[in-house]
Amino acid sequence: MRYSQLFGKTSKSVPADAESVNAKFLTQGGFVSKQMAGVYNFLPLGLRVLSKIQKIIREEMNDMGGQEILMPALTQEESYLTTGRESMEILFKTEIVGGGKAMLNPTHEEVVTPLVQSHAFSYRDLPMAVYQIQNKFRNEPRAKSGLLRGREFNMKDMYSFHLDEADLNKFYDQAIASYFRIYERLGLGKSQVVLTYASGGSFSRYSHEFQAISEVGEDTIFLCKKCNIAVNKEIIDEHNFCPSCESVDLTPSKAIEVGNIFKLRTRFSEAFKFNYQDKDGKNNLVEMGCYGMGPSRVMGTLVEIFHDEKGIIWPTAVAPFDVHLISLGKENDEVTAAAEKLYSTLKEQEIDVLFDDRGNSSAGEKLNDADLIGIPVRILLSKKTLAQNGAEFKRRNEKSSKIIALGEVVQNIRG
Ligand code: ATP
Ligand code: MG
Repeated sequence: MRYSQLFGKTSKSVPADAESVNAKFLTQGGFVSKQMAGVYNFLPLGLRVLSKIQKIIREEMNDMGGQEILMPALTQEESYLTTGRESMEILFKTEIVGGGKAMLNPTHEEVVTPLVQSHAFSYRDLPMAVYQIQNKFRNEPRAKSGLLRGREFNMKDMYSFHLDEADLNKFYDQAIASYFRIYERLGLGKSQVVLTYASGGSFSRYSHEFQAISEVGEDTIFLCKKCNIAVNKEIIDEHNFCPSCESVDLTPSKAIEVGNIFKLRTRFSEAFKFNYQDKDGKNNLVEMGCYGMGPSRVMGTLVEIFHDEKGIIWPTAVAPFDVHLISLGKENDEVTAAAEKLYSTLKEQEIDVLFDDRGNSSAGEKLNDADLIGIPVRILLSKKTLAQNGAEFKRRNEKSSKIIALGEVVQNIRG
């Protein structure tokens, strides 16, 4: 991709209401553009990152046996009346022309339960799990931390359906392992995302959150450093010890909730009378679990965790491009010719390149933009490097650069 043609350029001016680092860098870098508080446009650079995050999540969900579906964003009020959740404060409600009300789904239990019910009739159809990646709508009272808390935001939500609690428990444990694989692939290791015991709401004793340690997080967790397990502040009164080793030596820490899984048990199957007939012809309620993760919040979280004063430092797996190629050439000079040639070579090698081919920008501007955008590898061609028949190679997460031979650029990128 040629930077000169990219829709969504960098901007020097700090957005007046960019209250958080992720909002600031993502907006200035040309990744997103704010529509209103908590609602964002994703521009080409931002959509590339979001799609990579979604792809990793999708692969791991498929690996667990989840089947991808797409449910509607809009649902008739009756479904919420059935579960008694029609007065939830976060619901966006709307009138239907001709009568009736509809809701913009903040979560999809009210849609998925009757959906699966209408297609699963006997014990032979269970267990099963479906998931989707879709935008959710929540009338959040405070939407002011960029992608961290949206009113319209992206969520992966999986729902599992089981014959009994034991089978639910087994799947639930697999989901925990799968979530950690996802975070790991996204660049967040076990010291950065912590399994946290949280309130189970009206459904069960606990739910489990995946909390990314960060000063800007809204949540406070109490961390057992030995087990790397935490307890959310919301339940610390009833559970002030490590759920694993029972130590009471817990350290408070700020964190961002990047995932949340629940054993719903029969909360929704009961409301919709979702029974299955067992081998003996007896009716039982289906046991359910739900597994949420917010790709857009994850994207904001990665920026909060991986940045310096100059800009974003994307983990390789989600970077919008593999390489940021900068040409300091002038129109028709040898530097421009060499950069064009290298751009073609990299594309032929199927390396994703953002090529800063702008003729009218200064070197300083180009280098600052590269730091702001945060692509893992920067390759620069100038008169100086060409004099050595080489290119300057620099990783975004390292201070030093080096000159490498033009013929060895591909090798160095892959290395
Ligand atoms: P929170 O406690 O932060 O309000 P929640 O517990 O209501 O979130 P869930 O309903 O469990 O969240 O949603 C699953 C996942 O969706 C969360 O773990 C988070 O990653 C993401 N998410 C939830 N609310 C938002 C939001 N307003 N903006 C962006 N992502 C969100
Ligand atoms: Mg929560």
